[in-house]
Amino acid sequence: MKICVCIKQVPATTDVKIDPETNTLIREGIENQINPFDLYALEEAVRTKERRTAEGDPSTVTAISMGPPWAEEALREAISLGADDAILLSDKAFAGADTWCTSYTLAKALQKLNPDLVFCGMQAIDGDTGQVGPGIAAHLNYAQAAYVAKIEFLDNRKLVARRLIEEGYEVVEVALPAVLTVVKEINEPRTPSLRGKMNAKKAQIPVWGPADIGADPEKIGLRGSPTQVIKVMTPPCRSGGAKYEGEPEELAEKLYDVLKCLEVV
Ligand SMILES: Cc1cc2nc3c(=O)[nH]c(=O)nc-3n(C[C@H](O)[C@H](O)[C@H](O)COP(=O)(O)OP(=O)(O)OC[C@H]3O[C@@H](n4cnc5c(N)ncnc54)[C@H](O)[C@@H]3O)c2cc1C
Repeated sequence: MKICVCIKQVPATTDVKIDPETNTLIREGIENQINPFDLYALEEAVRTKERRTAEGDPSTVTAISMGPPWAEEALREAISLGADDAILLSDKAFAGADTWCTSYTLAKALQKLNPDLVFCGMQAIDGDTGQVGPGIAAHLNYAQAAYVAKIEFLDNRKLVARRLIEEGYEVVEVALPAVLTVVKEINEPRTPSLRGKMNAKKAQIPVWGPADIGADPEKIGLRGSPTQVIKVMTPPCRSGGAKYEGEPEELAEKLYDVLKCLEVV
């Protein structure tokens, strides 16, 4: 089975600056990390590889990331955690992409790799949209399941997954090839093994640009993005609010008066 996992490198600090011209995050010169949800996606990809290989279907995991040149670091970490190889999509033309363009770019690269299964995290902690996983599935015309908490069954034609929904769980059957986005309840990510660290050190990580994936220049980066961030601002701090003290009956009275003033009751 050919398995791919999408890894986003995100700021490891909340002290981020916004480029006043493009209104996108300045990612240079700050501490970065693998998006926390992608560590669960990676772990599930590696466990699936181990399970399928043990069932007689030799399988591999390729980690893929779209980002600046230093996102290579995140991919090396992914290899130390069990990925077999990695590919970095990096080019100035990809910069400033919205979720449509990010998922298009990743999908073009995945088309070249032709995976049976693609794992993504449920969301990235910076953009926070949760749109890229489903977007990749749409661009590839793959089946998909989001917020997956457990893979209950898997063969080379379909899988049965338990996904988190507001009311509890839902069990879905999904035909392969498919894209899954995972929640943190799905597993406990491993720590790097010595062998993993050695593989990471010596790994050759190819860097692909638009031409390598046959991407339409009109559909990538800030230029191709239907969504433009026109203003980024910190929400105003809210005042502390009023505090009331007293006996429960007294407090209930006071609260009723306040709600009445607000014409809520
Ligand atoms: C504060 C902020 C707000 C934004 N708001 C919007 C918005 O409203 N609309 C919009 O279109 N864009 C928005 N963007 C841009 C958006 O962040 C980027 O398009 C980004 O590349 C993907 O979206 P995301 O971060 O929400 O990822 P999500 O969709 O939350 O990521 C889900 C999963 O997709 C995979 N993934 C995501 N990005 C990559 C990558 N670069 N490489 C590999 N795998 C990846 C990972 O597995 C990740 O866990 C915003 C960016 C910021 C910083």
